[in-house]
Amino acid sequence: MTDKLGYCFQAMNSVMQMPHVSCKRRGHGGSAASSNLNPTSSSSTSGELASLFECPVCFEYVLPPILQCHSGHLVCQSCRPMLQCCPTCRGPLGNIRNLAMEKVATTVDFPCKFASSGCKLTLLYSEKIEHEEVCEFRPYQCPCPGALCKWEGSLEQVMPHLLNSHKSITTLQGEDIVFLATDINLPGAVDWVMMQECFNHNFMLVLEKQEKIEGYQQFFAIVQLIGSRRQAENFAYRLELNGTKRRLTWEATPRSIHEGVSSAIFNSDCLVFDTSMAKLFADNGNLGINVTISMV
Ligand SMILES: [Zn+2]
Ligand SMILES: [Zn+2]
Ligand SMILES: [Zn+2]
Ligand SMILES: [Zn+2]
Repeated sequence: MTDKLGYCFQAMNSVMQMPHVSCKRRGHGGSAASSNLNPTSSSSTSGELASLFECPVCFEYVLPPILQCHSGHLVCQSCRPMLQCCPTCRGPLGNIRNLAMEKVATTVDFPCKFASSGCKLTLLYSEKIEHEEVCEFRPYQCPCPGALCKWEGSLEQVMPHLLNSHKSITTLQGEDIVFLATDINLPGAVDWVMMQECFNHNFMLVLEKQEKIEGYQQFFAIVQLIGSRRQAENFAYRLELNGTKRRLTWEATPRSIHEGVSSAIFNSDCLVFDTSMAKLFADNGNLGINVTISMV
C-alpha cells in the first residue's frame, strides 16, 4: 500500500492546488499541499484517500479510466472535454493514462455523490454509478415528459412544482378514470399528460406519440407515481382501450418519477399501439384510455 501511496502524492499535489480554469500561466506554488503529504498520519482513511481523486474543476471524483496531463495532474472525464488545457498547470491535456491511480481507485471507498443530501454509503467506484442512479437521496426531476423543464428538488416539492409551473395539467379524482387524449392525429411527437389522485397519492398519466421507426408512428401510454420506487411497488395500474368488439389492456407496476418514464417508453415497457390501431379505438380523433389504479 505504501508503494501505491507513493504514486498518489504526485497527483495529490496537483489536486490540492486551487483550480484555475483559464489558461493564464501561473507559477507552481504547492507549499500549501506539503502539510497534507506528511506521512506521519499513518492511518490514512478511505475518506482521505478518496479526496486524492477530487477533480480540481467540479470536485467530483476522477474515476478510471484516469487521464493525466504531462505533469501528472488529473481532471475528471466530464470536465475534460470542456477544457483547453490542464486546469492546474495550463499545460496540454494529453491522453496519458495514470495506471497507478487507477489501481488505487479500485481499493478506495468513495462517498456517494449525494452524501451532502444525506446518503451515508461509501462504495467502490465500480458500484458507485449504479448506486447513484437509484440512490434515494438523488434529487427528483420534473416528471413532465419531454425534459423541457429542468426543475429538480425533493419529493415533497414535486407536487407544489407541478401545481405552480404546470398549471395546464388537469387532475381527476378516483381510482378508475378516463384519460381523454384529444386530437391524436396531430402530426409529429406529441405528449398528453394528466394527473390522477387516489389512495392519497398522485399519479401522472402519460400518452406519448413518437416515431421511433421512420414513417411509423406509435403511441406509448404509461403511469408514474409521484413517489419513491418503494412506494410505487405498492400499486398496480391498468390501461384499457375499449372499442366496438375490441379491447386492448396493459397492466403493470407504475414507475416511480424517480426513474421516470423515458427508459420504459424506449423499451416499450408500457401500453404500445400504432396509429392504425388508435383509429380503431378513437372517436372523432379523440382517444379515451380507461385508467384503473389498485393497491397490491
Ligand atoms: Zn470535473
Ligand atoms: Zn497539469
Ligand atoms: Zn447514495
Ligand atoms: Zn417542471
